[in-house]
Amino acid sequence: MNIDFNTDNHQFDGQQELTYINHSPDTLNKVFYHLYFNAFQAGSMMDIRSRTILDSDKRVGNRISKLKKSEMGIQQILSLKQNGEPLVFTNDGTILDVDLNKSILPGDTVIFSMEFKTQVPLQIRRSGRMNKEGIDYSMSQWYPKLCEYDKDGWHANPYVGREFYGVWGSFDVTIHMDADYTIAATGILQNPDEIGHGYTNVLIDSVPDRLSWNFKAENVHDFVWAADPDYTHDIVVNDKGPDFHLFYQKGEKTKHWERLGEYMIRTFEYADKHFGKYPYPHYSIIQGGDGGMEYPMATLITGHRSLKSLVGVSVHEAMHSWYHGLLATNEVLFAWMDEGFTSYASNRIEYEFFPEDFPATHGGSYKSYKRIAKSNYEEPLCTHADHFDTNWAYGAASYSKGVVILDQLSHIVGQKVVDRSLKRYFDEWAYKHPNASDFKRIVEKESEIELDWYFEYFVNSTKTIDYGIYEISENNNGTQILLKKGEMPMPVEFDVVLKDGGVSKYYIPTVLMRGEKVVDPVVNILPDWAWTNPYYSVRLKHAASDISEIQLHTSGHIADVEPLNDKVIIPKKWDWNKHKLKLQIIEKKKKKKYKLQKFAKIKKVAL
Ligand SMILES: [Zn+2]
Repeated sequence: MNIDFNTDNHQFDGQQELTYINHSPDTLNKVFYHLYFNAFQAGSMMDIRSRTILDSDKRVGNRISKLKKSEMGIQQILSLKQNGEPLVFTNDGTILDVDLNKSILPGDTVIFSMEFKTQVPLQIRRSGRMNKEGIDYSMSQWYPKLCEYDKDGWHANPYVGREFYGVWGSFDVTIHMDADYTIAATGILQNPDEIGHGYTNVLIDSVPDRLSWNFKAENVHDFVWAADPDYTHDIVVNDKGPDFHLFYQKGEKTKHWERLGEYMIRTFEYADKHFGKYPYPHYSIIQGGDGGMEYPMATLITGHRSLKSLVGVSVHEAMHSWYHGLLATNEVLFAWMDEGFTSYASNRIEYEFFPEDFPATHGGSYKSYKRIAKSNYEEPLCTHADHFDTNWAYGAASYSKGVVILDQLSHIVGQKVVDRSLKRYFDEWAYKHPNASDFKRIVEKESEIELDWYFEYFVNSTKTIDYGIYEISENNNGTQILLKKGEMPMPVEFDVVLKDGGVSKYYIPTVLMRGEKVVDPVVNILPDWAWTNPYYSVRLKHAASDISEIQLHTSGHIADVEPLNDKVIIPKKWDWNKHKLKLQIIEKKKKKKYKLQKFAKIKKVAL
């Protein structure tokens, strides 16, 4: 791409030459491009959605509807050719719909040449000009981007709110811009000695009015950049992995950026060891955007933060390099495999940095999942990212339940298997757009446990886990404990604590696993629980009067939504000859309703 940028009117002229190889077994008669910037126009799908959804994102609200002509995002395609022949195309909001002159056969290579004109919108969401911290240009989702065609066909999703999917490729981007600006971008700057701006130590004696910045990036599926005349550009050299480029406006509010490099070195060291090797030579953390958003080899984050907040957001966005950048699942359909896995990885790293803030590594994620699971708002993980009824349901599903689904696997298959699976998943599926089943198969192979039931329940339904101790009775042979199952089957672990201080440990696999995890030899493995039976009876040789308490879920890695029936402390004086201990379990407890804050309450949407 060749970009001629005019900072007076915030517009640029672009030429794009795209060499496209059809690696699919199908013949393509059409292609589609994303034109994301067109979302920032009054009446766009994003605008209407934001003004009608119950819990609008405050960053968007009704701001798009108020943009003046000069403030809107506009991406206009002037011409498009296939191997030199002009094509007919239709501009449909944020999607360009293209009829091909000649079909692209499997294995064919074609060249699409495009000319386009773009106006950068005022910063509303993720990208745009003049963000709230005063960064001039946050350039993400900024160019006409070919839609992905994969084994499930085209993914020409209009830009409504969230989540991205792209085609692997090599980028060669040249940006012509006023020399005052420092540019940060995906990729490696090819001409640092002509540019300066912190990219070289070579002294440049005469600086022209405009500079031409040439960046190249290999094996990425997107390209981001940002520009500001006041950026400080620090390079943190890292012998163990990628170098870090930090771009921020120096000042009191960004004072913690000076310490960011040391945390990033530790982050990538941990991630390389546990999640797979980061393959690119550098990673850039760029002040810009409206929070934190991930791109290949770079992130845009807001910069005015406390040290912990700055480290937290940087670790999260950096970990997206693994799940968004390299595994690159279609996050429109499997948002939890990106946001959930990323949050899981960043929870583990943040726990290393600030253990005092985390009573349990993933405690916050369990809490937030359980909160929505007990409300009326939960929607299944398999919901299309833009089609959740509320932003709350999307967030709780993809971030929180996405962490829980992964962490809870350690309860089913064991932490060592989870750790091995995460490495193998990366090694086998990086650059290949895996889906949920691809990940499930890796864990099945590593554990030799069948897991289709687990993903079926936890991805495709909102059924919850609620095991409880139901009844305890004593007879001549010892003690009988009756356990009760909730909606979803799971293996169950429990401890029996004796009055003399001894502890007996028990483990009941679910029949669906067709196997069991490797447990400590002291654990008593009981026969499988056939899931159709709501009850399971365990006979203990201890007299009930010798037991002080029974505790379920001792692994801690299980999202049982009702803790009240998970633990029983046996009363000291209990006449077992007369009474069973039957627990008053809240079985018909009404689902708690949560009120959502209405941000943009409107009756009718003016088109
Ligand atoms: Zn994220």
